[in-house]
Amino acid sequence: MKNRRSRLLLAGLLLVSMLGRAQDPLVTRCASTERDSVRLLKNPALRNLRMRSESAIQGYLRSNAGARTAASEVITIPVVVHVVHNRADNVIGGAGNGNISDAQIQSQIDVLNEDYGNTSGYKGFYTDSLAVDTGIRFKLVSVVRTYNTTSQFSPITDADDLANISPAWFTNRYLNIWVTRLNDRYLGTSQFPVVTELNDRTAGLATSENEETDALTDGVIIDFRYFGRNSDAITSRIYNLGRTTTHEVGHWLGLIHIWGDSTCGTDYCDDTPTANTKNETTDVSCSPVYSQCRPNVITRNMTENYMDYSPDVCMSIFTNDQKERMHAVLALSPRRAKMVEYSRFSTSELMVEIYPNPVGETLTANVFTPNFESYTVSVYNQKGQKVTADAVNRAYLNVKNFPSGLYYYKVTTADKTITKRFVVR
Ligand SMILES: [Zn+2]
Repeated sequence: MKNRRSRLLLAGLLLVSMLGRAQDPLVTRCASTERDSVRLLKNPALRNLRMRSESAIQGYLRSNAGARTAASEVITIPVVVHVVHNRADNVIGGAGNGNISDAQIQSQIDVLNEDYGNTSGYKGFYTDSLAVDTGIRFKLVSVVRTYNTTSQFSPITDADDLANISPAWFTNRYLNIWVTRLNDRYLGTSQFPVVTELNDRTAGLATSENEETDALTDGVIIDFRYFGRNSDAITSRIYNLGRTTTHEVGHWLGLIHIWGDSTCGTDYCDDTPTANTKNETTDVSCSPVYSQCRPNVITRNMTENYMDYSPDVCMSIFTNDQKERMHAVLALSPRRAKMVEYSRFSTSELMVEIYPNPVGETLTANVFTPNFESYTVSVYNQKGQKVTADAVNRAYLNVKNFPSGLYYYKVTTADKTITKRFVVR
């Protein structure tokens, strides 16, 4: 009897652990470093630039020590979410549906603001006094939904595909986040910023390559099952609080994994203890993990750091050095710096510029609306006939097949309209 009971107990335990594994396979949190390796292989010039980036960041931090910490200005990053789903009937929301609900998207923006603002009600397992408000916030500007038959994407090699399916909004004005289904090994990925020395740029040495390299894919890609929180599309027990995106946006702002992607490597932040390796675990009890990176010195890993691989519930901190590093990148990366400049630009007027004019192939529209209000674009020929379907928040217009002549580009918000003329060659 006793034996039978213990056998049953053992069988039960096995079943529970198998179910646990079936629900939560050990996946790799992040594909950013793998994606970056592929990117550098394709572009040797970028490799050279990257080698100079770190010294640029360190030089900036030395010369501006403490400047950011004292500054009270908050930088608000406008966010565009591209939902790429394979739900042919375009139904929004519900279990297993990649066409996630607006509520799920908004919950992710809330998580970002809580985590980057250090205001989250839930502080994680370790209440760490080193946690800071990064002075960075996020504002959802638009959600773009696109149906595509592809069932899943690779976070390492498919950024181009996603950017073809749902083109980025200006990557020097917005943080673009593509939300889709990734292959099952990874939760998310992001594109590291390109950083140049300030004096290189003021000397005019920032080449168009620096400025434009991989501009169309600059952003973050997240599997829809780990985007946001409190949604029935999120089934993981481990990665259920939206911190995959907090982590990936950290990379997008130049942060490195706290173990430095090698044994006892560096993330260039002195206040994140050196760690033997990542905290890749399904243990949601947030048990402490220790490293010995120097002889006779054992330190606790900062597993609560957003740039580790810990379960969402265990994460609760960016440090001051990480904050300083992100602000250095926001100043030194040409695209990020431009974004900060634009984010400070507030207008009560609708402003539209279109170029080049005359145009042969692609007309670009730079539109500023009060408080990032969305707008509609209509294009007419000289006879007043509409030549394309109206589009919301259109940045680019392909005019290759337009007959030569004069056209009108009309931008409309809720209560304002501006019409610009342009000529197709
Ligand atoms: Zn990562």
